[in-house]
Amino acid sequence: MSRGRFRRWLWPFGIAAAGVGTAAAVLLRGCWHTHMSWPTRYDDHYSYRVCTACGIKRLFNPKSFRGYGPYGYDLHELMARDRARRLKQQKLTA
Ligand SMILES: [Zn+2]
Repeated sequence: MSRGRFRRWLWPFGIAAAGVGTAAAVLLRGCWHTHMSWPTRYDDHYSYRVCTACGIKRLFNPKSFRGYGPYGYDLHELMARDRARRLKQQKLTA
């Protein structure tokens, strides 16, 4: 068995291990997230919008009134990623 075939065979098990959120993202990849809800305020720093079709979330900037960053099903992960990105930028400009 070649290496490539073996990895393809393992793929469904990887999805199962990664959790329901990832599996849902794969299943609903056809969704274009065109029907986003109104922005919901999470805390002083973050707002987000939810896709009414598939439930995926995206961070939202009320000042520019635009969504930003990647889409994801785990809001806490999105915020953690955004914080990490900001820290990186601060270090680069300092
Ligand atoms: Zn969607």
